[in-house]
Amino acid sequence: MSSTTTERSIPGVLWIAVVILGVSGLILLSLALARSNGRHLLAGLVCFALVVGLCLGHRWAYVLAVFFHGPLTLIVIVLNPRGMLSVLLINLPVLVSVLLSTSYFFGTQKPRALVNPLVCPRCGYTLLGLTVPRCPECGQQFDIPM
Ligand SMILES: [Zn+2]
Repeated sequence: MSSTTTERSIPGVLWIAVVILGVSGLILLSLALARSNGRHLLAGLVCFALVVGLCLGHRWAYVLAVFFHGPLTLIVIVLNPRGMLSVLLINLPVLVSVLLSTSYFFGTQKPRALVNPLVCPRCGYTLLGLTVPRCPECGQQFDIPM
């Protein structure tokens, strides 16, 4: 995969949702233009907003995508069982793709460690102003350049 400008690269499985939502958005927008249908226009714009939000790793996009393609889809199926096929072909892959990418939205946000770099990890002696990479109290060596 080519390099990206974002710090975290988009997980491969998330591209399924991005591509499906992007194509759906294009279809909905062209339908909206052909029939001047406001509902299709809104749905198309939501699709594109989700594509951008998902690519950038925004949590609101994750929550909306899961809600639209999970609980909301379930309600639509109950109300209109004839729409089952399109749901299975479009909404289910998006839901699975987004759910499998959960760590992209909610992981790696917290700092890995809360270790104070100015204190010896072995004895707690303050290391401020050291000129050699070694603790003067306990003799612990460090890898950090001085
Ligand atoms: Zn020490």
